[in-house]
Amino acid sequence: MVSIISEWWIRLAIGLLGSGIVGLVALKARALSISGAISAMIMGTIFIVLGEPIWFVLLIVFFISSTFWSKFKKGHRAKKLAEANYEKTGQRDAGQVWANGGFGVILLMGYAILPSEMWLLAYIGVMGAVNADTWATEIGALSRAAPRSIITGKKVDVGTSGGITLLGTIASLGGALAIGLSASIMSSGKLSFIIIGGIAGFAGALVDSILGAKLQAMYRCVICGKETERSEHCGQATEHIRGWQRLNNDWVNIVCSVTAGIVAVLLGLIF
Ligand SMILES: [Zn+2]
Repeated sequence: MVSIISEWWIRLAIGLLGSGIVGLVALKARALSISGAISAMIMGTIFIVLGEPIWFVLLIVFFISSTFWSKFKKGHRAKKLAEANYEKTGQRDAGQVWANGGFGVILLMGYAILPSEMWLLAYIGVMGAVNADTWATEIGALSRAAPRSIITGKKVDVGTSGGITLLGTIASLGGALAIGLSASIMSSGKLSFIIIGGIAGFAGALVDSILGAKLQAMYRCVICGKETERSEHCGQATEHIRGWQRLNNDWVNIVCSVTAGIVAVLLGLIF
């Protein structure tokens, strides 16, 4: 919170305390695992020490809204079905926390060393994409219509990477716009931030779906025969059927973030 409190050590104390409380609450609410909570605490502290409030606020908007949507209609049949196919379930661990927010940390460090609005634009794009992807997954899981492959348009199993629904696509745009709108509010109403967050975030999530459909590793359960992105199903190791085995969901998220960041910076040159 560079612009509000100039002493770095006060920001450090506030960061540790504030992020510590958020991490503990998230741990209690089972939104984060222990490693995830520690990572979130470190990340939150870095944001408060190095960034203006807008940086921290976007991270919190992502975290709170994605936790809300993941708990929303938890017992819904369609949602349970979708979750059975995700690579990971429930609590975010350290890997996921860094995949979601690690790019923000890098951009913020760049901003702290060489202050320029470009870093912030890239960050708005990245968070827009991460939020869009999460909202699409969580809300899209409630869709009554079967997902279709973004590449072939054919119906695919619920929870399959690269499978999209109309509801999930609208949710994706909503998630991106939520970040753009928050950024706008935090910067005394810059309209360009809404447009940039919305477009870059949506584009990133689109790339995420395309990569998910084309390249992400998919496995088949040797017990029940279902296709899944998990390396284990029904308590047994699954067999690899397609995609790059190294390209798991965390890597797909990273590629999606980079794309969104670049799109946001390019849009910043126009708007
Ligand atoms: Zn199975």
